[in-house]
Amino acid sequence: MSNDVGRFDDVMNYHPDHDWLEQYAAATLPAPLALIVAVHLGYCSVCRREVEALQALGGALLEQLAPVAVGDGLFERLMQRIDSEPAPAQPVVAVSAPSDVPKPLRRLVPQGFEALSWNWALPSLRVASLDSGDSRFQLALHRIAPGGRVAVHDHRGLELTQVLRGSFSDEDGIYGDGDFLQREPGQRHRPQATLNEECICLTLQAAPVRFTGPLMRLLNPLLR
Ligand SMILES: [Zn+2]
Repeated sequence: MSNDVGRFDDVMNYHPDHDWLEQYAAATLPAPLALIVAVHLGYCSVCRREVEALQALGGALLEQLAPVAVGDGLFERLMQRIDSEPAPAQPVVAVSAPSDVPKPLRRLVPQGFEALSWNWALPSLRVASLDSGDSRFQLALHRIAPGGRVAVHDHRGLELTQVLRGSFSDEDGIYGDGDFLQREPGQRHRPQATLNEECICLTLQAAPVRFTGPLMRLLNPLLR
């Protein structure tokens, strides 16, 4: 498929919930959540169209309300304020050469993935923490070696995963470039990268994951 937003457009199977997109369109998501949704939009024209439609709907509602609800100059001031809102409200065009880092992430990953400091977490997993700017959320890049397995873990909080490159699977499915996964607290899973290539994901956690295998419990303090 030919378009200007990404090589993998239209092939992903897993998307953010409609609620996330609605809040994104209304610019009411906390910044780290808006960031991960923005990265998904760079890959996914289906969700991008939905956000654009929601934003158009929001604009139309404002126009309907404006004549009766506001006085002189207020509507203009309101529109100016909306125009000056930060980036998350905007449709995002991303994923381009040369850096391979999706556009919304480039402020946090200015030199590309290789330049980050990757910490060993498990034999096949390296993790690079990113500054989410919000103490309620941990933002990180996870890098699973080709064929690598990650220990079974569950979630004490919400975990969102956006696949940036490569693919992995778990008990519930196979996830490739552009897919967006949501794990609820208490869900356990064991991700495994595909054999032929490494997998890089952006993850956002509302609370640290907890590894649950017998030996893996010992690792938990290292992963905080
Ligand atoms: Zn989507």
